[in-house]
Amino acid sequence: MPELPEVETVVRTLKRQLRGLAFTGVRLGPRRLRRPWPIHRSSVFDSPRPVLGVSRRGKWIRVHLADGWNLLFHLGMTGRLWVVEAGAPDQPHTHLVFDLAPGGRQLRFQDVRRFGVADLLTDEEWQQTLASEHLGPEPFDLTAEELWQKARASQRCLKAILMDQSVTAGVGNIYADESLFEARLHPARRGTTLRQDEAERLQNALVTVLRRAINRHGSTIRTFFYGENGRGGYQNEFRVYRQTGKPCPRCGSSIRRIRLAGRSTHFCPRCQPAPRRRLKRAVPR
Ligand SMILES: [Zn+2]
Repeated sequence: MPELPEVETVVRTLKRQLRGLAFTGVRLGPRRLRRPWPIHRSSVFDSPRPVLGVSRRGKWIRVHLADGWNLLFHLGMTGRLWVVEAGAPDQPHTHLVFDLAPGGRQLRFQDVRRFGVADLLTDEEWQQTLASEHLGPEPFDLTAEELWQKARASQRCLKAILMDQSVTAGVGNIYADESLFEARLHPARRGTTLRQDEAERLQNALVTVLRRAINRHGSTIRTFFYGENGRGGYQNEFRVYRQTGKPCPRCGSSIRRIRLAGRSTHFCPRCQPAPRRRLKRAVPR
């Protein structure tokens, strides 16, 4: 499932490819997305709508168009957005094809599993949609103090806290595991047990891991592509994610996998010490 680095890679690619172009039409594929495309608005493209910008918030992509319109995309599990020549062969599971001018190219949205979202919204609706998602700050804007306060107030494990989009937006399974390894924190630790210095380590780790992954254009495990055939490279640098049984790059212990917050979770049993059971203090301090 695409997370922040993958979505950021798609956004940066689209920014380059859509610069100076306008949307001039849209065609729907044979199958419907789970959230249907607003067919009644397809006439919006009867007049060319120049692209003003492309941006990301969490895992959401916004293509900002002139005259107060916005294309909103979420890649879900298998979504792909890419620009091709209009004559390029159709691919199965393509749900939307947008015509671009000048130059006769197209922006296509494909989604095999159909958990993705494509919508056409006014500026106000775009704001409302974002607000209804209750997204926390981007990891790069999240302060260690904020992370500490949010964690301390939570009985949930660190893994679940990192993946909670209202704590910070854009982190999923891969980068939660990689960040906890980087910070040497066990994924099953309760938020309430996190110390301030550990929160600082975790916030630093998050930013370090995400920056590294963005530099490698994200991770391609099965289906993530950007542009026509661009594949991420960060899967070759995973320290713990999907490395079960392999030696920890720091200490050589075998990487372990457990199930946490409903997800496969990978960690080093030595570098990321297990949470200690809380002992009742015999002597009050
Ligand atoms: Zn280790």
